Amino acid sequence: MEKGEELYSGKAKSVFLTVDPEVLIMEFRDDTSAFDGEKVDQLDRKGMVNNRFNAFIMEHLAGKGVVTHFEKLCSANESQVKRLDMIPVECVVRNIATGSLCRRLGVEDGLDLQPPTFEFFLKNDELHDPMINEYHIASFGWATPDEVEIMKRQTFRVNEILGALFSAGGMILVDFKLEFGRFGDALLLGDEFTPDGCRLWDRDTRKKLDKDRFRQGLGGVVEAYEEVALRLGVDLDSSVSP
Ligand code: ADP
Ligand code: UDP
Repeated sequence: MEKGEELYSGKAKSVFLTVDPEVLIMEFRDDTSAFDGEKVDQLDRKGMVNNRFNAFIMEHLAGKGVVTHFEKLCSANESQVKRLDMIPVECVVRNIATGSLCRRLGVEDGLDLQPPTFEFFLKNDELHDPMINEYHIASFGWATPDEVEIMKRQTFRVNEILGALFSAGGMILVDFKLEFGRFGDALLLGDEFTPDGCRLWDRDTRKKLDKDRFRQGLGGVVEAYEEVALRLGVDLDSSVSP
């Protein structure tokens, strides 16, 4: 489908209208950012790797019954998705304590979390994505109680499905962030699932294979994303027919 006017340009992706009002084209750029846009860089091949990685994950989830916005790849760094009315909330599940959880609660980095824990954050860069709870979501009308339940259930379901997938590739899914949006009466998984929005560690060495490599200046960011893709069998080379 032809790309129309740009609807939105975020920190790592741009979203374009199409002739079909229910369909968008999502472009994964090479831009990468951390700390709410304070640290930015351009990483060669990242857009392409993330686009194909995301397609693989979204198709895997769809195969397991998780309804997503993803429709198809349309080029090396673009995908066709359903246009959602996005809920301005990030859903995070954590299997191991690290990152902001350790800074906030002073718990040991690397601690196993059993059961896995769940957090909501408000999508608002100016406020640095503050942590919120279900009462905030209800009081400010960001989502209905039913939508909150669906987001929690689906995020835990994604944790089970992808935990098993990454485990088969010798990796630990440490934590991840999902976004959901409304499509008619349905609530669909939107945005992306890539190493930009999750933490993945090698099971044996605990080597970081995700955006923490960029956040912490460890180097080899895209190489790590490609290693994850290789371990999962994501095809990064085939041509895409629009
Ligand atoms: P950010 O807004 O955090 O800088 P991105 O650069 O990833 O993020 O921009 C992508 C934007 O597109 C995000 O705001 C995301 O919520 C939004 N988005 C993702 N999927 C859809 C969709 N299917 N329909 C409409 N908007 C979407
Ligand atoms: N995350 C994300 N976007 C955000 C905030 C977090 O994708 O705006 C992801 C992040 O990559 C990690 C998980 O959510 O996999 C939990 O992040 P955390 O709260 O630990 O934040 P950070 O340490 O990155 O500040």
